[in-house]
Amino acid sequence: MKKTGLNELRKDPLLGRWIAVLSKSLPPSEYAQAIPQETVKESSCILCPGRESETPMEIMRSGYSSTADPGRKWSTRVVANFDPVFTVEGDLGRSGEGMYDKMNSIGAHEIIIESPYHDIPPEDMGLDQMTRVVQTYRDRMADLEKDTRLRYTLIYKNYGRTAGALSAHPASYLVSTPVIPKRVKEELANAKQYFAYKERCIFCDIMREEMRTEKRIIIESRYFIAFCPYASKFAFETWLVPKRHNCAFQDVRADELEDLALILSSVLKKLRALFPYLSYNYFIHSAPNRVTRKDHWHTLGEDFHWHIEIMPRFLRTTGFEWGSGFYILPTSPEIAAKYLREV
Ligand SMILES: [Zn+2]
Ligand SMILES: [Zn+2]
Ligand SMILES: [Zn+2]
Repeated sequence: MKKTGLNELRKDPLLGRWIAVLSKSLPPSEYAQAIPQETVKESSCILCPGRESETPMEIMRSGYSSTADPGRKWSTRVVANFDPVFTVEGDLGRSGEGMYDKMNSIGAHEIIIESPYHDIPPEDMGLDQMTRVVQTYRDRMADLEKDTRLRYTLIYKNYGRTAGALSAHPASYLVSTPVIPKRVKEELANAKQYFAYKERCIFCDIMREEMRTEKRIIIESRYFIAFCPYASKFAFETWLVPKRHNCAFQDVRADELEDLALILSSVLKKLRALFPYLSYNYFIHSAPNRVTRKDHWHTLGEDFHWHIEIMPRFLRTTGFEWGSGFYILPTSPEIAAKYLREV
């Protein structure tokens, strides 16, 4: 391993936030991971096939095409969340309360059951099933964009205890909100500002730079690149970015979806090879719903570029990071990418 030199401060071009990269770059073996705990057993899991009537309302299901297992009635299923924070019924009820503004918690909160099999990690599902999962993501986003009360849909996954996963049954979640979440708003605002200044999409520029230097690239597929961002917040953070400029995830083509399933499975396999008990989150950052509004900007289609961020969850975040939003990166993105490339 490289000898300790000066630590480096890096500015994230998208968010303008600074992070610190430690010069000694820890190897994967130095990261503490939570040991897997007792999770819900298959016999008591209501996301498993056969107990469909016990889940909250079913929103959609996709069929099962394989003849290998004719007993299976579905390959993915979407149901309302057990304890939804946001619900679809009602109106926004925007109103004031003294100096404050409030509105009803209108939205959608759904569980995307990724497989009929209880105990299968996503990266082991196989390409066909992973393709159905990302297709289900797309179908739900396209459907929710039609609801004019809603402004944003976030699809995310929690894997492992420290990432907040509640059950071993493979699932992702969807939350649709009547406001644009802050974190997304910051990305949108910075991407818009970059575009106004340079007349180029910041994500296309980042991708060109990554492809030019190749230092932080993990893998490249036909339609996507996977890389560790220059100013990552977390060690081994990985982004998947489509090579074709496109602001909205729901506008992906069928061939791109298949390729996305491939590169997502590959990256998750690589992470697991380095960290067998890894907990992680991933989420899709796509454009807000593109309905005409008075505050809607005209360059959204050009200035934003959808992507997936994968965040490994190690037990390292301290009060300093939480309190300051200033992240310390114990393994540089170049070295993390090298480990992931070579594993
Ligand atoms: Zn189950
Ligand atoms: Zn772009
Ligand atoms: Zn993002």
